[in-house]
Amino acid sequence: MAHKAPGRSDRHGISVMELFKMFPDEAAARTWLENIRWPEGNRHCPHCGSLKTSAVKNETPMPYHCGECREYFSVKTGTVMQSSKVALQKWVIAMYLMSTSLKGVSSMKLHRDLSVTQKTAWMLAQKIRQGWIDGGGKLKGEVEVDETYVGGKERNKHMDKRLNSGRGAVGKAAVIGAKERNGKIKVKVIERTDAATLEGFVLGNVQAGATVYTDEHKGYRGLSASFGHHTVKHSIGKYVNGMAHTNGIESFWAMLKRGYKGTYHKMSAKHLARYVTEFAGRHNVRSLDTIIQMTILGLDGKRLRYDDLVAKP
Ligand SMILES: [Zn+2]
Repeated sequence: MAHKAPGRSDRHGISVMELFKMFPDEAAARTWLENIRWPEGNRHCPHCGSLKTSAVKNETPMPYHCGECREYFSVKTGTVMQSSKVALQKWVIAMYLMSTSLKGVSSMKLHRDLSVTQKTAWMLAQKIRQGWIDGGGKLKGEVEVDETYVGGKERNKHMDKRLNSGRGAVGKAAVIGAKERNGKIKVKVIERTDAATLEGFVLGNVQAGATVYTDEHKGYRGLSASFGHHTVKHSIGKYVNGMAHTNGIESFWAMLKRGYKGTYHKMSAKHLARYVTEFAGRHNVRSLDTIIQMTILGLDGKRLRYDDLVAKP
């Protein structure tokens, strides 16, 4: 993305007032979504791609029908909104809230703001997060890599459970991230912080030949084989040594942890990966305007079933 990352005041955002003017009712929300999905009346079938489509009388069972594959469809078919009974107006408002709240939105808040049940609010949020999953290419140029720990407060645990073994703390989940300087972030929840895991993440997400900045963790030592590798020496108090710093990824961790504490009080380990994706996703789309962010969220064509969400890993 060639966009510079602007400060908040530079964003081409829309206000809540504008949002209400844009989406006064269900029909307005539907027209807006249809125009984005099928610009210039180019309505096509999400099942087979055919343009031979027609409107269905009384919109039953669905608003449109394909003359080619004979399937029915709506603007929601093939998007994260598929098979949802929630009004499109609520979807659009949920997308707005998720896009514009830097620390995230709890399902409790969505539940109250949208007048839906808490279960529905939770599903909306999870599906919208799914739209943020990044399938894009590797990071390039100057890339900061770091790991952090999210979860359980050590001091609240019984003494014999305070098993600090090596880095971080037992009972917390480890997350590794890589951030292009002034660019995109990739993050992943990891089981271990050994060299194989750390290096594997970097090799999978950073283009060979890039310049990589890490701290002095042993697990990063092998990186110099594939990257220009610079180490930040936290231990001798030389926190920022010219270009060798990991401040970008560290501020991302700070944001993630503020969100964890302030918004998602009970972030289960099982869902941590999706929350982490949400924070990275919000970071990665922040230079786009709100409408485009909302579009990415809603119309990315990804589906997530309730069964997949609650399934044990
Ligand atoms: Zn079709």
